[in-house]
Amino acid sequence: MSLISPSRLTIEAAGLSPVSTHKAAHAGICAMCGYPYQAGDPVLAFRPESSFTDYGALRGQGNKAIDGWCAATWTREFTQTHGKAVVSRQGVFKAASNNDIAWWLLNPPEGPWLFVQMDQQVQHLFWRAPVNYSRDVFFIQYGEARLTVRRENLARGADAARRLAIVASEGRKGAALKHPFVRLARELDEPLHGLLRPNLYKIANDRVEVGADIDIVAGLTSGELWGLTAVLYATESAVPERKLPELVA
Ligand SMILES: [Zn+2]
Repeated sequence: MSLISPSRLTIEAAGLSPVSTHKAAHAGICAMCGYPYQAGDPVLAFRPESSFTDYGALRGQGNKAIDGWCAATWTREFTQTHGKAVVSRQGVFKAASNNDIAWWLLNPPEGPWLFVQMDQQVQHLFWRAPVNYSRDVFFIQYGEARLTVRRENLARGADAARRLAIVASEGRKGAALKHPFVRLARELDEPLHGLLRPNLYKIANDRVEVGADIDIVAGLTSGELWGLTAVLYATESAVPERKLPELVA
């Protein structure tokens, strides 16, 4: 299996061309993604502007060139337009709404593929996104963070959360709860995110199945917990729209 860099996968999937100034005279390592390039590959000198602050994220620190695929993902337009996306050999797809995100979490594409969630206005995530080869355990580049999702655990956790929401809704006036948490936030910086409602622990003293569901939810990774914010709110299950390559009428 030959490994493909996240940038090359993205640019090829998008149907775009690498951006370069010349062909590499020798094989080397890209300063950004850290993947090797071959003699003859499109490259350009790595000259970050003064606004560049991601030095700590460079995978190939110290190298003087970047490959043309990383350069092509570097443009402001590409970054702003495709900040929340899933990339596979089939193209670049939307991954922004609850429905879209839930779809990808539960129906990931065949590898190689990647999942990015920009959490700032302009953020360069593609060149550092982990390339996934599994549909069962995979990674999401969420801003600076990297989330891990085990697909079966997410599905099991969603079922447990739905059952706990029913239990937590017992005796309540008004609409049933959508989830059993004090807070369930899409942003990862919410302190109460993922905390179960305290009364569930009391109920679990008398009802063993409630305790079992609490254990399932407690065993979720932060990525799976984040996934619940989409899976529990998704209203339909449909393949998200492809953004690139654009369909030609
Ligand atoms: Zn690169």
